[in-house]
Amino acid sequence: MGEIINGKEFAKSLKSDIRKFVEDKKGEGIRVPCLATITIGEDGGSMYYVNNQIKLCKDLGLEPKHFSLDESIKEEELIGLIENLNEDREIDGIMLQLPLPKHIDEKLVSSKISYKKDIDGLTDINLGKFYKGEKAFVPCTARSAIELIKSTGVKIEGKRAVVLGRSNIVGKPVAQLLMNENATVTICHSRTNDLKEICKEADILVVAMGKPQSIGRDYIKEKAIVIDVGTSSVNGKITGDVIFDEAIEVASFVTPVPGGVGAVTTTLLMKNLCEAFEENVY
Ligand code: NAP
Repeated sequence: MGEIINGKEFAKSLKSDIRKFVEDKKGEGIRVPCLATITIGEDGGSMYYVNNQIKLCKDLGLEPKHFSLDESIKEEELIGLIENLNEDREIDGIMLQLPLPKHIDEKLVSSKISYKKDIDGLTDINLGKFYKGEKAFVPCTARSAIELIKSTGVKIEGKRAVVLGRSNIVGKPVAQLLMNENATVTICHSRTNDLKEICKEADILVVAMGKPQSIGRDYIKEKAIVIDVGTSSVNGKITGDVIFDEAIEVASFVTPVPGGVGAVTTTLLMKNLCEAFEENVY
């Protein structure tokens, strides 16, 4: 029987580091890190994420500044706001909640966020720097997956790692981060042949397909580490891609859903905010 990798516990220790950081800054008489969040219209999904970000900011002693914009906002007005926030020395991170209304070019507008304030690492500059091995913000979900693997204490170097999914936001950055740790990495996708056989060779299996309950014991090598990034809503319940009860019987470590990767992601975003603050203030 394997062990559960507890994302909530991991996030707790990150949170206490951030609270200490904030207290130290206050002690030095410096302002606290400030996150600007932007939502357009009333998209329920975006509001859920942004409310979580604002709540966590407050909880950690960080300063949230929310901009709730009307659905009818013009593209140039939104770009103007982002450019002002880029210039504002009192703003350290900018989170633009996607998707944007159809009349706004999402790629163009997102690219206007300064890479120094792009704390979720989604701009082309941050992605370019990251894949070139330079210091950059990395998409937080991918980083969360790696941090949870490291939290097991198992050495990543030399291990066979398999990543299921090749999206820009999860699969590709996870694969790159594993490669940075000297794992030997295989990326699989919807056109991969012999998926089961490839997964069976993985010492580390990261699953990010968005196909609920599709990876069971047949896909998992004895004593593997299994990281489930999947979050699908099934009958109103957040559900992972991995059949947890089967995985935990075979693997040495498994992340649950919920309470695994997702429990760490927003806290890592706040950690990145503190790093952006250090660059911005000093
Ligand atoms: P995505 O853009 O839809 O990408 C899914 C990937 O899985 C694609 O590369 C796809 O292959 C691959 N795939 C789909 N079906 C497959 C199959 N049967 N066999 C092998 N590969 C298959 O999704 P995403 O944005 O990367 O997100 C993946 C999951 O992570 C979703 O459940 C999402 O909700 C979740 N997520 C969680 C967090 C968090 O904080 N916990 C954050 C972001 C995302 P092709 O490229 O060939 O289409």
